[in-house]
Amino acid sequence: MTKPNARVLKDVIRTIPDYPKPGIMFRDITTLLGDAWAFRRAVDELVQPYAGAKVDKVAGIEARGFILGGAVAHQLSAGFVPIRKKGKLPHETVRVSYLLEYGEDEMEMHADALVKGERVILVDDLIATGGTALGAVELLRRLGAEVVAACFVIDLPDLGGAEKLRAAGVDVRTLLAFE
Ligand code: AMP
Repeated sequence: MTKPNARVLKDVIRTIPDYPKPGIMFRDITTLLGDAWAFRRAVDELVQPYAGAKVDKVAGIEARGFILGGAVAHQLSAGFVPIRKKGKLPHETVRVSYLLEYGEDEMEMHADALVKGERVILVDDLIATGGTALGAVELLRRLGAEVVAACFVIDLPDLGGAEKLRAAGVDVRTLLAFE
């Protein structure tokens, strides 16, 4: 049985209603990142199934995926690869457009960030509709990566993103859900 005072990650995430626009419940992980126990716990839980999985690289999605992904890469002794909004990376890139809840955007990776066949874990803070993560998986696969898993602290299951990623053949790991 869980002790009544046991801390849970979900309680450390702050919710901001109507940000960045009306109707959105923004799940703010800065409160989790600023809490030493919670940050460590989240990273430990994200990496736990992949400890012996021979992961070559961790790819993090701008911007909160950089913070979590960097820590995950360190824990797994893997390299880190940033996936960024278009126009931010200085060298030759590969680019994909991806669907947002309303509209479209583009993201990029350096074309030489991966060697064909490398085993990669994708990391972001949250999966909602899955558009962002599906775009990232497409970029990784285009460069020949084997996508071992996609890991998120938060799932919004009502929006169906995790299911879409699984349907695309990706092993998805999420630590907690907000309905
Ligand atoms: P999606 O492409 O719809 O799965 O959206 C995922 C991306 O948008 C992630 O990079 C999240 O950081 C961000 N995001 C979407 N919805 C929220 C939300 N309710 N709270 C915080 N971040 C969100």
